[in-house]
Amino acid sequence: MNINAAEAALVTDCKVIAARHILEVCAHFGGGSRLGRYPAAPLSQVPTALPDLRDVRGQPYARRALEIAAAGQHSLLLIGSPGAGKSMLAQRLPGILPLMNDAEAMEVATLRSIVGRPLKPSEWRSRPFRSPHHTASAAALVGGGVHPRPGEISLAHNGVLFLDELPEFERRVLEVLREPLEAGAITISRASRQAEFPARFQLIAAMNPCPRGYLGDVFGNCQCTADQAQRYRARISGPLLDRLDLQVHVPRLEFKSLRDRIGDREASAVVSARVARTREVQIHRQGGCNAHLDNAAVERYCSPNAAGRAILERAMQHLGLSARGYHRVLKVARTIADMTSQTQIEVAQIAEALALRSLDRQAAM
Ligand SMILES: [Zn+2]
Repeated sequence: MNINAAEAALVTDCKVIAARHILEVCAHFGGGSRLGRYPAAPLSQVPTALPDLRDVRGQPYARRALEIAAAGQHSLLLIGSPGAGKSMLAQRLPGILPLMNDAEAMEVATLRSIVGRPLKPSEWRSRPFRSPHHTASAAALVGGGVHPRPGEISLAHNGVLFLDELPEFERRVLEVLREPLEAGAITISRASRQAEFPARFQLIAAMNPCPRGYLGDVFGNCQCTADQAQRYRARISGPLLDRLDLQVHVPRLEFKSLRDRIGDREASAVVSARVARTREVQIHRQGGCNAHLDNAAVERYCSPNAAGRAILERAMQHLGLSARGYHRVLKVARTIADMTSQTQIEVAQIAEALALRSLDRQAAM
């Protein structure tokens, strides 16, 4: 009873009266003993302590990519050897994202309620972070069942879906992600009924550069051939790779980075304040984040100057960038410009956005 009452009490301005038995309800309305109002627990307006970026040593390039991803809600692929800190970085994304508003938090609470795992009041505005294992089935990931239930992508709604060891997921399982990545929702059709669940999640994925994991690692001793590495990466389909806006390498640390002092590292609170400002620029201009702009809006808001367009067109020819990849580079460049409140997208932002798609570059080599 208390679980249901506590859940109902999350709804703003809702008077909750909890009963243990139907007879108590009859008594309440029939002039017998009255039931008391269930007290609402105070909703947390500050997130519970989330992992902090201050714990991450070095990795300036990956930290920059994480901040850009957070600022524009872009998807991100981290590529690096085991122990490079890919998971550690991914887990720190929720801590630099803006807190959910009450409407978003209510959506998350509703989805959690459907799967029977009610949200705690202390988690109220913190963005969800889900990291299903690579052995997860398609149904576990997107939802399913005779009476359709939400899957991991819906539990990650308004938050982060982290897929570690991306090439280890079954290809068929990964392909089902394409629809919700575009639509922000998933439709599950069964003979008996059809259900649509929201699934607007931010995708963060991680992978090793090759099967043994140490290709290109200065300390590693990897025997994988270029061909083996290429086959390993090819487990991720082109269309899915296209949808990963940022693809960055996370090298294992050099000794001097291991000695940096915690006081010298930027904390999540500092980064999150910048992310919030960049989000405001986007909301003010177009009402949503850059990652979700459609093609018409990209033409309207993300047009680079002539020099910027010229290097992008050259890159398309040399890297074999797809039309989707082209639009994604422009959206990331828009976010980079927004981070410094710059109206015009110039060469520097296009070049950085291109540099942040490293698998495209490797595929072209
Ligand atoms: Zn290898």
